[in-house]
Amino acid sequence: MKLVVRVKLLPTPLQAAALEATLHACNQAATWAAGVAFEENARRPLELRKHAYAEIRFRWGLGAQAAQHAIKKTCDAYTTLRANLRNGRYGRPGSRRHVRASGKPVVFRPQAAQPYDDRMLSWEHQARTVSIWTTAGRLKGVAFTGQAGQLEVLAAHRQGESDLVCQGGKWFLIATCEIAEGDLNTHPAGFLGVDLGIVNVAATSDGERHCGRRINRKRERDRKLRSKLQKKHTKSAKRRAKKHAGKEARRNKDINHKISKRIVAEAERTGRGIALETLTGIRERARLRKPQRTTLHSWPFAQLGSFIAYKAKRAGVPVVYVDPAYTSQECSQCHHTARDNRPSQAVFSCRVCGFVEHADHNASHNIRQRGWMAWVCGAQSTAPELTLIA
Ligand SMILES: [Zn+2]
Repeated sequence: MKLVVRVKLLPTPLQAAALEATLHACNQAATWAAGVAFEENARRPLELRKHAYAEIRFRWGLGAQAAQHAIKKTCDAYTTLRANLRNGRYGRPGSRRHVRASGKPVVFRPQAAQPYDDRMLSWEHQARTVSIWTTAGRLKGVAFTGQAGQLEVLAAHRQGESDLVCQGGKWFLIATCEIAEGDLNTHPAGFLGVDLGIVNVAATSDGERHCGRRINRKRERDRKLRSKLQKKHTKSAKRRAKKHAGKEARRNKDINHKISKRIVAEAERTGRGIALETLTGIRERARLRKPQRTTLHSWPFAQLGSFIAYKAKRAGVPVVYVDPAYTSQECSQCHHTARDNRPSQAVFSCRVCGFVEHADHNASHNIRQRGWMAWVCGAQSTAPELTLIA
């Protein structure tokens, strides 16, 4: 399976200037080539090369590889555009949006990503530097940094092209890694049910709760600061708000990585599969008081679910997705389902059999049972879109 690793480059000011000039040149060349492709109706790499290759190399000083990539990037953009037009992304043929999108050549932003292959970019993992082609010659010893775990994956599994991008004045390389999938455990000893929620970010049927209280409090504070900044309408306030949003996203991602790692490791250690709710259900299901509503929409459930999915795939742990309907109202012991089984956010108390349990754990037991049923009925699937049990 493919995994994308993003590392941050730490260029000196001189190196950064060279990278910027290179990215601009590549994108100007690609935009020009897109115009040629449009006029000559040459939207395949081989054809476009005939019309554009020599000029790109001469006018923008791109090397042979970079010129090839600029041409390929242009052709890929047209392929994507064509697919989008066909799929109705721009409305019906003849509509104003459709005409506007199809009636003029593709344009690349000056900072659009540029692909680099192994001849233009080489990695020194020990020294944590790259040697990278620019229009000002080859830059050697450009430092990079990233999360320790991601750098390990990068060193062991990087394959093929990487993209050079500039975001918010910072430089990144986005590298593709090809990772072997673990042998799927086809005889799981059971399932670990995971209930994703707000108050508890994730509760498992083993009784483990990954509490979100501290995160939520912090998030609430951040949100208040952001809305205060947004009201100010000044440039510096906007900048601060943006910086803050990035910080929050990074923190959430880090937390999601940790939680998913623990859940998958536990399932793998005990020879079990993982049962999750289909993610679309979560937002719709939750009926919450107002302060919680803001947290619901800012919590990246989808990310936690996808982290669990790919880590499970890597470890060969089967994942099944179950319909989340009434998992919070159903008694995991006698299966009596009613809204008043849940007197409060945290407590589950069955009106029929008297079973009392933390609400999220009761839900995770239901998810575990539904996951197991899905598995033994032979409806197992690792596709997140599938609803397995109605
Ligand atoms: Zn009951």
